[in-house]
Amino acid sequence: PIVFLNGTYVRAEDARISPFDRGFTFGEGVYEVCIAVNGKFVDAPAHLARLDRSLAACGIAHPPERAKLDSIMEELLRKNDVTTGLVYIQVTSGVSPRNFTIRPEGRSTLLMMAQASDFEQTSAFREGIHVQLREDIRWLHRDIKTTMLMPQVMAKRDALAQGMSDTLFYDEQGITEGASSNVFLVDAHGTLVTRPLSNRLLAGCTRERILDLAREAGLPVDERPIQRAEFATATECFVTSATYLITPVLTVDGVSIADGQVGLVTRTLQRLYCNSMND
Ligand code: PLP
Repeated sequence: PIVFLNGTYVRAEDARISPFDRGFTFGEGVYEVCIAVNGKFVDAPAHLARLDRSLAACGIAHPPERAKLDSIMEELLRKNDVTTGLVYIQVTSGVSPRNFTIRPEGRSTLLMMAQASDFEQTSAFREGIHVQLREDIRWLHRDIKTTMLMPQVMAKRDALAQGMSDTLFYDEQGITEGASSNVFLVDAHGTLVTRPLSNRLLAGCTRERILDLAREAGLPVDERPIQRAEFATATECFVTSATYLITPVLTVDGVSIADGQVGLVTRTLQRLYCNSMND
């Protein structure tokens, strides 16, 4: 693969990042994942706007290529022969001696890469997934998309070890989000419910699109925390992210949502979302 590192396109095996990069020593980095379908990016401006917010929140300087990220994204697809897949963008604060408070003198590190993947063809998207619940032990700035992903990696590995595909997190107010997704359910009254934005969860670009599509379609929508007990009475549940698109959740901790089949609201939103991607 060809990656973009600090101003140049290089083969992945030739890319060099300093051992003193603060992304490596301190996890001082932020990232984005944006997908392209048939060569067209989905919600790229929203992802780049969130990258700017994450950088600002962490006090990381913009990489000098900031204004050109759009064209670098396009070029990475071309150079890697990817038409449907994802582009990963990571920015760290750069290189400094290993000292907590030093501000790097040089540039922020920018790494971008592309990867082919067919999101609409995955069994998760088509057939749904099984998830477990775990207490949300992450920090309280989950609105910042940082590369400090240890809790998510552990939670996802733990899910696999339990024979499930992912983990949903909860706190004292209810479900926060999935380990790499936002969570929606259709409650017993037929209302589409998802947690309101706060520092407790990431403002998903896909979440925002789904809320818009649902409102346009005339579905009742309520942004409020989902209680763990509600999975017993919910009629549908799904998770959203750039790569999950809208993925049905069939069971939570081994208990089926309704009859354990993918529901009508989920299928309708999948169709509307895929139509809007392919427009
Ligand atoms: N929440 C978390 C913790 C995530 O990591 C992600 C995406 O990876 C999301 C939500 C969904 O965000 P988006 O729809 O912008 O991909």
